Amino acid sequence: MSGPANVPEDVDTEDCLLNYSYIFSPDVLKNKVAFITGGGSGIGFRIAEVLMRHGCRTVIASRSLERVQESAAKLMAATGQRCLPASMDVRQPETIKAAVEKMLRVFGKVDILVNNAAGNFLCPASGLSFNAFKTVLEIDTIGTFNTSKLLYQKWFKDHGGVIVNITATLSYRGQMLQVHAGSAKAAIDAMTKHLAVEWGPDNIRVNSLAPGPVSGTEGFRKLGGLLMAAADHCKVIPLQRVGTKTEIAHGVLYLVSPAASFVTGTSLVIDGGHWLSGANDMSAIQALLQASAKL
Ligand code: NAP
Repeated sequence: MSGPANVPEDVDTEDCLLNYSYIFSPDVLKNKVAFITGGGSGIGFRIAEVLMRHGCRTVIASRSLERVQESAAKLMAATGQRCLPASMDVRQPETIKAAVEKMLRVFGKVDILVNNAAGNFLCPASGLSFNAFKTVLEIDTIGTFNTSKLLYQKWFKDHGGVIVNITATLSYRGQMLQVHAGSAKAAIDAMTKHLAVEWGPDNIRVNSLAPGPVSGTEGFRKLGGLLMAAADHCKVIPLQRVGTKTEIAHGVLYLVSPAASFVTGTSLVIDGGHWLSGANDMSAIQALLQASAKL
């Protein structure tokens, strides 16, 4: 997909970009190593690709070994950098520990952690089971803590590092049907500040990046895409369009690069201004609920 001027190219499938124009110096992450949870799909896949195109080696980690293996092969073919696939569940510290130890054996270090793994779906609070709410917090919030703590213990404490937590703008205005994900991501934004303060003296920067609706992602297909279609919702976004995975990856690239060397404890929103103007449109949400109930 090639968009309006100045919008970096993207593809909607789980594939690497056909063309890539550098904005940053191509070797800005030369010899760095990044650990990316949920790096086998969607936004995480593109983050891995963009970091690798800038000289970084990566570990992409999620539950499905098949998914991360397939993605690692595509990423290595497109970028010429090494990518290690790892199977782990962010809810199970032992599995994270095994993946981190494997990374340290193979690459001998780690510089960057991107906490991107998450689970989400649309559901009104009244219909949400106790278990469903708990599961989303376990994956998003506790998973982010588990992975950050293990990376800290195993490497960052003694060598410094950079952490980027992928969050969302859902809680900023209390998005309907999203009490689980909004609460989970708001807690991660709080965690970003706590860890930035506690770990700053260890030369560790911790920031959040909150994407708006991003095309070519599972999240968009399941959530935003339906809403956009239901109400021509793009018109409420100040920039009049949804974002691309490459635009989110560029935000991560900035945050992990030396350009952000004095940036910590903050949240970078990349949403075309959506949260400022995208209100809870009750009739569109009602239509969306009816449509998703039929799926
Ligand atoms: P996605 O493709 O569904 O990515 C989620 C990834 O997390 C998958 O690769 C999944 O792999 C992994 N994962 C899920 N549960 C896991 C677990 N327990 N342990 C380890 N890995 C797990 O989603 P996406 O749309 O690209 O979203 C990526 C991030 O951006 C998420 O944090 C999301 O909340 C955020 N975001 C997305 C949008 C959007 O428009 N897409 C908007 C705002 C924020 P496995 O199934 O193999 O485990």
